[in-house]
Amino acid sequence: MNRQMKKSIFLLLSALVVVLGCLHYWTPGHHIFLHDTYRRLGYFPITIGGIIFGLWGGLFFAVISCLAFVPHLYMFWAQGPEAYYSELSEILFYLIAGLVVGLISSRQARLREKYRGLSEKLSVSYQRLHDQTRQLLQIEEQLSSNQRLSLLGQVSASLAHEIKNPLAAIKGAAEILADEVPKGHDKYEFVTIMRSQISRLNQSVEKVLDFCRGEQKKDATQYNFQPVQVIVEEVLKLLDPQFRQHRIELITHIEPGENPVTVQSASLGQVLMNVLLNAIDAAGDNGKIRIQAEPDVTDAGLADKSQTQGRTPGYTIHVSDSGPGIPDNEEVQVFEPFFTRKDSGTGLGLSISRKLIESIGGTIMLDRSGLGGAGFLIRIPDHRDVSAKGVQDDTIHFVD
Ligand code: ADP
Repeated sequence: MNRQMKKSIFLLLSALVVVLGCLHYWTPGHHIFLHDTYRRLGYFPITIGGIIFGLWGGLFFAVISCLAFVPHLYMFWAQGPEAYYSELSEILFYLIAGLVVGLISSRQARLREKYRGLSEKLSVSYQRLHDQTRQLLQIEEQLSSNQRLSLLGQVSASLAHEIKNPLAAIKGAAEILADEVPKGHDKYEFVTIMRSQISRLNQSVEKVLDFCRGEQKKDATQYNFQPVQVIVEEVLKLLDPQFRQHRIELITHIEPGENPVTVQSASLGQVLMNVLLNAIDAAGDNGKIRIQAEPDVTDAGLADKSQTQGRTPGYTIHVSDSGPGIPDNEEVQVFEPFFTRKDSGTGLGLSISRKLIESIGGTIMLDRSGLGGAGFLIRIPDHRDVSAKGVQDDTIHFVD
């Protein structure tokens, strides 16, 4: 019951007491039946007042009912002590009724308050229990997924290790053959192919081993810094034969920006390569791929400031394709190692890409495509003080 409603009831009950007092006063004394009725009606405001306003409400209405009853008492003065004391006892009953109803109602109100407090505490405990159960389930799920991954990692690591040794022998043999087949020889081309494929295979094996060891190999090429848009253009050039082979319509929008951000070319190049190769697979023949690469607009020149608020400005690369897209329930899984939907996939492309991009302080995530398929958003911050995982602060810097 709200405050306004309580106020209205209080006024109504007070008015009722006044009306009953007036009726007592104006009704001639010989109308015994009417006076008895008014007297009984007098309990009505006292009881309701006690129930709604507690002890003080009950006593208040009992007292004003007594006061309203006083003129009537005066009228019985003349009818002898018996009638007078009978009327006087009514006052006492009014007070007792107000006190008893008020006490009971106050006690109930206190109990109600206590139970409400208890029920609030219970609901907080229930919510906490619910949250803790959910966390426990998540941890359990993560634990079993980690166990699975660790097993897969061990298998992959031992497999990669097994491949590495015979590969070293094949490489040695190829080097000897290369000495026998000088430049200009009609078999020279085959030896070159053999050596380049061996080195590619070796790189893949190293990649799996690095991944399983949980670290990225930091060779000299990784510290070769280049502006982001140059890396994007180089990767697109490298993949040109694939685009042509699948007759893929390539839509590009590449902006260098005023203050080009430079980044380790090998890392970003590898990430773009993985994402674009997936996009080619997904888009298929005659599909479409769009690459939008541009610097983030800084707060100073930004129309919609909400876009960069709370994050450092940098460079954004958006890759989208017209393929079937990634189902909602696989949005997290695609970044997990060894998750693949391809017959010949390793499921390492996106997880390695995430590690690589994080190692240079950036992020990679799924985004809307605009072409109907999957969309990937790669962000590279251009803060000098980016403290990326396992990387020195000077991995990203400006070129003036
Ligand atoms: P792989 O390519 O070896 O399967 P990835 O980690 O690169 O490993 O990709 C994991 C999975 O994510 C793919 O098998 C595919 O199901 C899904 N995926 C990645 N890119 C796309 C894309 N552009 N469109 C649809 N699915 C994709």
